[in-house]
Amino acid sequence: MNSPSRKPSAESATRLDSFWMPFTANRQFKGRPRMLQSAEGMFYTDTEGRQVLDGTAGLWCCNAGHGRREIAEAVSRQISQMDFAPTFQMGHPLPFELAEQLAGIAPPGLNRVFFTNSGSEAVDTALKIALAYHRARGEGSRRLLIGRELAYHGVGFGGISVGGIANNRRAYTTLPNVDHLPHTLDLERNAFTRGLPVNGAEQADHLERLVNLHGAENIAAVIVEPLSGSAGVILPPVGYLQRLREITRRHGIVLIFDEVITGFGRVGAPFAAQRWEVVPDMLTAAKGLTNGAIPMGAVLLHSALQDALMSGPEQQIEFFHGYTYSGHPVAAAAALATLEIYRSEQLLTRAADLEEDWQTLLHSLAGLPNVVDIRNTGLVGAVHLASRENSPGSRGYEVFERCFREGLLVRCTGDIIALSPPLIIEPGHMDRIIDTLGSVIQRTA
Ligand code: PMP
Repeated sequence: MNSPSRKPSAESATRLDSFWMPFTANRQFKGRPRMLQSAEGMFYTDTEGRQVLDGTAGLWCCNAGHGRREIAEAVSRQISQMDFAPTFQMGHPLPFELAEQLAGIAPPGLNRVFFTNSGSEAVDTALKIALAYHRARGEGSRRLLIGRELAYHGVGFGGISVGGIANNRRAYTTLPNVDHLPHTLDLERNAFTRGLPVNGAEQADHLERLVNLHGAENIAAVIVEPLSGSAGVILPPVGYLQRLREITRRHGIVLIFDEVITGFGRVGAPFAAQRWEVVPDMLTAAKGLTNGAIPMGAVLLHSALQDALMSGPEQQIEFFHGYTYSGHPVAAAAALATLEIYRSEQLLTRAADLEEDWQTLLHSLAGLPNVVDIRNTGLVGAVHLASRENSPGSRGYEVFERCFREGLLVRCTGDIIALSPPLIIEPGHMDRIIDTLGSVIQRTA
């Protein structure tokens, strides 16, 4: 709780107390939250009028930068024309058009789309589709879901169950019938690799062990983030995703890529599946889908899955699932305007063009005090700092706070500083991110 003495005024004290801040240690959180007020292009402006360079695209979502008029106008037009329309047993044109456009940029075969309002809902929806798919085909024994250590798949019960972040699970109950693969972070073998690490593809073979342990006939799906963002940018070793694909295919297990972070150009292609040439059976998306402007998520799935689900021998199985706001007209309008920006500014491949410069700059921070690893791909990066013995996470948080004071927004996960700037970034912004971060790390020694 905020202590009364720190509160600036009675009025703002009330304001600060009522909002339960998400993913914030509210019990320990003593300071005034940093308050942002407006945003344009690569920059936020805070309530004191200071500019803050956005090194994280908000929360990995504002890929086209901030304040995009095209999205604002599309949203405003749509609210005036039709604020809401049900999509249960009826519809309106926008989600049909959006689904078709998404299929057009998706990996081959992933041409059916189920809309949600968030990444968490997309994950839970994908897991449910996998279960219903096996059930409809008469393979109802396939109930086991396999996630991965350190994975973040949102906060639904499905997502925290297949997820592997202990703090997000501890206070709750999780689903039965879940197992986990090991994560792929390997500082001993892979530290300071430029791009994808070369060691560790064999970690995928743990899946064979889980198949031996549980029996393929009991396993429904494997879900992984192509790169684990929230855990601190843990990259897939070269060949790892291919191996997961090969093993899942051999055993009839549905493979789901959670592309909530990697979708929409973050790694230099519309989806990581394309950049790394591995096509899953389903992928989840959110965040960049609407440039973060309006909440929306989606599951893109292979037509074979939907066809099998709808024509399987177990005819009483339908996919009874949906949200009041699935395919919401205003969100769909925002997404269509966003896709148009991505297309016209070629943002979905821009991270591949900038990757080398970004990589060179980022790796110039190697050798600074306490830097134990630097990871990068596309327009994503992480600077991994050594933890203080008695207070893990404190160094990362200090770097985050100092960067913010000096006009740069970064994200810290424990002692890992994650970067994922808007894809409209120009070389001058990159220099500024690296200069500020480097100087702060130097001084946080
Ligand atoms: N999956 C992944 C990979 C994510 O990174 C996130 C959000 N950071 C989610 C799911 C959850 O998305 P949301 O917060 O929109 O529910």
